[in-house]
Amino acid sequence: MEIITPIQAMRAVRRAEPELSWGFVPTLGALHEGHLSLVRRARAENDRVVASIFVNPMQFERQSDLQAYPRTVERDADLLNAEGVDVVWTPDEAEMYPPGFQTVVDVQAVTRRLEGEHRPGHLQGVTTIVTKLFNVVRPTRAYFGQKDAQQAAAVRRLVLDLSMDIAIVVCPTVREADGLAMSSRNVLLTQEQRAAAPVLYRALSEAVRAWEAGEHQAEILRSWMKTRIESEPLAQIDYISVADPDTLEELHGPVDRALLSLAVYFGDVRLIDNMTVS
Ligand code: AMP
Repeated sequence: MEIITPIQAMRAVRRAEPELSWGFVPTLGALHEGHLSLVRRARAENDRVVASIFVNPMQFERQSDLQAYPRTVERDADLLNAEGVDVVWTPDEAEMYPPGFQTVVDVQAVTRRLEGEHRPGHLQGVTTIVTKLFNVVRPTRAYFGQKDAQQAAAVRRLVLDLSMDIAIVVCPTVREADGLAMSSRNVLLTQEQRAAAPVLYRALSEAVRAWEAGEHQAEILRSWMKTRIESEPLAQIDYISVADPDTLEELHGPVDRALLSLAVYFGDVRLIDNMTVS
């Protein structure tokens, strides 16, 4: 496995084997089984696999969140090596954002709600860095997690809108035994917060069960999840949503297909999760 930092070196490796299929898994590092599930899928479907590790400052709207973000690059490289990854790309911040940087990729309506509304600039940071990473790696297929459903929807939209020849593969959310969605942020939770956090999973699964049992009213599903989360004193709701899975527009009345999603604070740690019904 090669570990590469300069853009030109990454380009050269990719250019050397133009005829092969290249799978790409972009990450912020601090890898867990969720990330590795994407890597395994990429390994199974491509000749070559590239994973990038880059804590992208542009997608953090709070400096404190950027500084607290866990960084475990050496351990990450070992995990990726064990999964048979060919190239780990660890871009340099100064090279990714050269002096005078002023170009952004803005996917419009899809990024205006939910995470876009509650973390201004976050998704624009994501779509800009993903475009830059795509331009260098030029993958055949790129792998994203359903855990970040709005990010996946925005990337799908940008690939279509900017005529990029890249297949976007979205993989299921990997969870801990108690249902908590794996996240690099989970290590920031105190023991009490960690014990309380599976309430997200329970609220979502109960809403899914209610929908399956015939309760299709968006308002009722939302208030069901709200009541459930509010029963946990350590949880502070940021948003609870029942939205169209493609446009992310909030739904009203009976729904036959929806993304149920939520963002909840435990102290300073903000967790997101979602499930879909269809
Ligand atoms: P991140 O490092 O948080 O930017 O995540 C990198 C990729 O891994 C994104 O496409 C995420 O959606 C995906 N991912 C993160 N957590 C999970 C999880 N629990 N299950 C599946 N995919 C995940």
